[in-house]
Amino acid sequence: MKREDRNDNRRDHNLRNSSFRKTRRRRKRRYLIILMLLALLIPVGGALLYLNMFPIFLKSRVVVKEMTEQFDALDNVRFVFGGNPEQVKVETEADLTKPGDYPIRYTYGKRQASAVLQVRDLTPPELSVRSYTTDEVEEVKPEQFVEKAEDLSKVTLSFVDPEIRKEAGAWKIRIAAEDESGNRTEKETELIRVKDENGPRISGTEDRVLVAGEGFDAKEAVSVEDDMDPVPLLEVDDSNLDLSVPGTYYVDYRAKDRSGNQTEVRRKIVVKKKEEKVVYLTFDDGPSANTEKVLDILKKENVKATFFVTGNNPKYNYLMKRAKEEGHAIGLHTYTHDYSRVYSSEKAYFDDLQKISDLVEKTTGERSKLLRFPGGSSNLVSAKYTKGIMSSLTKKVREKGYQYFDWNCDSTDAAGNNVPVETLVKNASSGQGKQINILMHDTDAKDTTVAALPKIIESYRSRGYTFRELTADSFAPQHKVNN
Ligand SMILES: [Zn+2]
Repeated sequence: MKREDRNDNRRDHNLRNSSFRKTRRRRKRRYLIILMLLALLIPVGGALLYLNMFPIFLKSRVVVKEMTEQFDALDNVRFVFGGNPEQVKVETEADLTKPGDYPIRYTYGKRQASAVLQVRDLTPPELSVRSYTTDEVEEVKPEQFVEKAEDLSKVTLSFVDPEIRKEAGAWKIRIAAEDESGNRTEKETELIRVKDENGPRISGTEDRVLVAGEGFDAKEAVSVEDDMDPVPLLEVDDSNLDLSVPGTYYVDYRAKDRSGNQTEVRRKIVVKKKEEKVVYLTFDDGPSANTEKVLDILKKENVKATFFVTGNNPKYNYLMKRAKEEGHAIGLHTYTHDYSRVYSSEKAYFDDLQKISDLVEKTTGERSKLLRFPGGSSNLVSAKYTKGIMSSLTKKVREKGYQYFDWNCDSTDAAGNNVPVETLVKNASSGQGKQINILMHDTDAKDTTVAALPKIIESYRSRGYTFRELTADSFAPQHKVNN
């Protein structure tokens, strides 16, 4: 082959070759552009796809908050693709007052995101303390040293050193306050122990006067106080007290504090007889033809009375016995009831008194200590026979163990015979006061006294009086002695 030909061939070949290469290069560039475009479009599309699926962007998946802090779950939204945070719905059951982990769910359209809220208590309790003074006995408690212990959760107080000194002195004490999350504050204060040498004070144990049958609680209104022991013991011994029987009694109080100091108080209780309204019906000068009727009325009315008797009507003496047997009292009025005899001398009086006393004893089986002077102790008739005899007799009868009774209500049936019943009822019923001794007479002529008796009884009964026979201790009205 010729060189030129060969050259031509090469040129040809080269020419063909160069156009082919040009075409390849162009195609390659086109691919590259497509690839570049794809490389650009795929991530953008993917990003758009992703953003469409997860449009909510949070600042943090885990949010930690102190209990005291304010918290708005929306603040945790950084941004929302295609919207704004206000359009996000928040759902959570977080309780900001209780430590714990609480899920939060964020919703935007149909898309969701979630985070966890961790509520934590990291603040220790606020504690202020004070010193405490007590005796050498009390088991002290941390609360006694605390003025204020505050926290959002429950605070538990304790002694840092559980060994607490009991001897007198001033001791350092450390108090710890711990909240439910374990946050702790400690403060130091002082326990002051002093030796207690004072017994408790008992008050309200003043003497009392009671009426028999009245209720009484020996502990009522009685209080006990101690300078150290808030609840000292109080023992009451009222075992001797009998509220149903009049008398003077003592109730013993003994108080004791926890250090063993004792105080004793003795309280006087006087129980008085129950004060009743009492009527003593008294009949002088019997027995008589009317005594039986009087006794029948008294029996029917179930009323007790007193008869001051004489020896002047011996055929009725047996009625003294009946009267006594039926619960009435028999008193001595003198045997003769003769002023000129009984008041002629002291001796004459006492001789006469002895006679009636013997008669009463013989008839009823019992001596009487009850007296009524003829005319009463205030009579002036006696002055005709012996000057000053009443002054001495009233003393001497007492010395001999008698009690004499005048009256404080007069039926006036001695004013004459057959005083009208209405007059007797009116006068005999005029008695006032707690104790009434009514003067009436029991003689053959005193028919209107008998007739008035049921109405007199009715009058006092309707006013709440009790009818009693006299005894030596009974209320004894006594007139002013005039001779
Ligand atoms: Zn008389």
